[in-house]
Amino acid sequence: MKDLLNLLTPKDALELLKNNFAIPLKAVEVELSQAFGKILAKPVQAQENIPPFSRSTVDGYAVFAQDTFGATETFPVLLELNGEIGMGEVPEFSLGPGEAVRIFTGGALPQGADSVVMVEHTELFDSMTVSVLRPVAPGENVIAAGEDFKEGETVLAKGTKIRAQELGVLAALGYNKVTVYNPLKVGIISTGDELVPVETKLKPGQIRDTNAYLLVGRILDLGMQPVYFGIVPDNFAELTHTLSHALAETDVVLLSGGTSMGVKDMVVDAINSLGAPGVLFHGLAIKPGKPTIGGGVAGKPVLGLPGHPASALMVFERLGVPFLRYLSGLKSSFDTRVKAVLTVNLPSKTGQEDLYRVALTFSESQYLATPILGKSGLINTLTRADGYVIVPLDIEGLHAGEEVEVILF
Ligand code: AMP
Ligand code: MG
Repeated sequence: MKDLLNLLTPKDALELLKNNFAIPLKAVEVELSQAFGKILAKPVQAQENIPPFSRSTVDGYAVFAQDTFGATETFPVLLELNGEIGMGEVPEFSLGPGEAVRIFTGGALPQGADSVVMVEHTELFDSMTVSVLRPVAPGENVIAAGEDFKEGETVLAKGTKIRAQELGVLAALGYNKVTVYNPLKVGIISTGDELVPVETKLKPGQIRDTNAYLLVGRILDLGMQPVYFGIVPDNFAELTHTLSHALAETDVVLLSGGTSMGVKDMVVDAINSLGAPGVLFHGLAIKPGKPTIGGGVAGKPVLGLPGHPASALMVFERLGVPFLRYLSGLKSSFDTRVKAVLTVNLPSKTGQEDLYRVALTFSESQYLATPILGKSGLINTLTRADGYVIVPLDIEGLHAGEEVEVILF
């Protein structure tokens, strides 16, 4: 088997893919209840002031702040009690000078009131009079009309991923439908003569298809739609047939296995046989994951991931995840990272990015990261890892005691 030369850095590989592909995204209107995890295809504006009226943030008495100035426990200010404001009710009267109105959290302030004294800072003097024991400043304990969102203001930008927070804001703004992008459809193909479906009782030499499920899980995690095209043997005709079918049905295709330089490795030829641009790179300066292929056919990208499950997952994390996020129309995206201190040295060759899977523990005030070592063919390393650490290209390893960033799975 020949070796791969011309290795591309993960950064350059990502740039190359981004420069060659952009998926035309379809915008669809969905019910708010179906919008979680989707990406906004249009900006969202406030249709009205939120809150639409000035609201109290406490239980107490709505007042004109100036009337309370100078109030103390020994010399309280006496205000005339002018009724009570029920929840969901808009007061039709205005507050006169020297008056207070009983109000509850979330209640609408009457005209003339600019603040609320907490009930804890008052005493009922008699049924008609309340003693105020502390002054309030104008605006105290009040959310002004439009303070959250002003009518016409852009509240959420196009390309925002809808999390729980965005769902809540959309609900508050009165949007029961939103325009989002159709989630990216990601095709998955597993290749190898030795691979069999999960339910199979293994015969000697057989391996159950693991990568497809790893990838399905990650793609669902990303809010995208996985489509599994099954297992294809190391047969050129069958591989090109399934790949062209997957390309027709989905936006992006992920293959795993068959990406090295052996006689049974046909992914490069299969991609090249289907049309331009074909294979753009073969080989990444990364460990694990060197035998990786990037390319595409007629505007649709294809990633050929290494067969070993741990390698397939690591390449998917390092290259596939940022690329798919870019294609999905996200305006910005972040990994979830934590800072941790290395418990042991992490050796690395210069000119190669090393990806170490690590387990995290918490000790006193910091996270400790311990690498999960093991051959890339061992899959027990995957479930024990919480995330991974990148040892950059030009560094000869990291030392025990150094602080690193762990990208969480
Ligand atoms: P390959 O890249 O085809 O040379 O495969 C490398 C190793 O990964 C071989 O031991 C394969 O049996 C294994 N492998 C390939 N694809 C899968 C898969 N989908 N699930 C589990 N193991 C796989
Ligand atoms: Mg193979």
